[in-house]
Amino acid sequence: METLLMKGKPVADAYRETIIARVARALEKGRKVTLAIIVVGDDPASHVYKDRLMKLADSMGIYVKEILYPADVKQEDLLRDIARMNHNRYITGVLPMMPMPEPLSSDAVGTAVTASKDVDCLNVKNVGDMYLGYGTMSPCTPRACMATLEHYGIELEGRHAVVIGRSNVVGKPVANLLLNKNATVTVCHSKTKNLAEITRTADVIVAAVGKPCFVTPDMIKEGAVIVDVGINVVDGKLVGDVDPAVVGKAGAYTPVPGGIGVVSNMMVMDLLTRKE
Ligand code: NAP
Repeated sequence: METLLMKGKPVADAYRETIIARVARALEKGRKVTLAIIVVGDDPASHVYKDRLMKLADSMGIYVKEILYPADVKQEDLLRDIARMNHNRYITGVLPMMPMPEPLSSDAVGTAVTASKDVDCLNVKNVGDMYLGYGTMSPCTPRACMATLEHYGIELEGRHAVVIGRSNVVGKPVANLLLNKNATVTVCHSKTKNLAEITRTADVIVAAVGKPCFVTPDMIKEGAVIVDVGINVVDGKLVGDVDPAVVGKAGAYTPVPGGIGVVSNMMVMDLLTRKE
């Protein structure tokens, strides 16, 4: 069958003009939209992500303050600096690159970011609001999944959505957002038995496993909608959690690269500017 390729660029582009207009409105009022990105240590993935966000922000007139710490920074020093950023009126949003290297606590660092400047829904108040269905906050990648499904007109109500992965940053929140759209949601994880039997009943699959090409064509039913959140590097190439061989069997599929990642970055800018 013909598979609809749900590319991320058209989804991100649909947000771009709105965000640029918000940045201009803020400037008219004398505010320069500023994102503070905190990177601890030298994890290559965090630095690549940070560089991509900086490039995207720059293309939309958003200023980024890059704050780098050595991996052995003391947690109390980091938390004290975040508290200062929370009170700094020249900083619009604060984004620590997660996960924090050990022995730092990612939860403590995330929650140190004040709720109003928390652009990736790390603060427990924002997390709680999201699960209770209050407000509009949710982490960027789950938001990107939902924005992509909406952009491509994928119906969710009453459909069986299977989320593979239950992390706090992707699996659990995306399951919650799918539930809010009246999908019937099953969450699978490493202890799930007979995974393929479950995924073969799915109308929609969100793969957030962190294993290259984990979801194979025999694990999906004909016409299923497949959202690939995975970012894995294999032999220097970016590979998703879904085997691209699903093209031809899936009804719709987000490619990697060029799928959810692009939208996810734009979601950071969307949340950063939402009050402007
Ligand atoms: P994570 O914290 O490592 O979580 C992986 C999840 O997959 C866990 O819940 C784990 O189950 C489950 N899992 C592992 N092996 C499994 C198996 N054999 N069968 C079923 N479930 C299994 O990863 P994450 O942070 O959620 O990220 C997932 C992927 O998304 C990664 O590739 C990451 O790079 C990517 N990502 C992309 C974006 C983006 O913007 N596109 C953003 C964030 C992350 P247990 O809970 O039982 O261990």
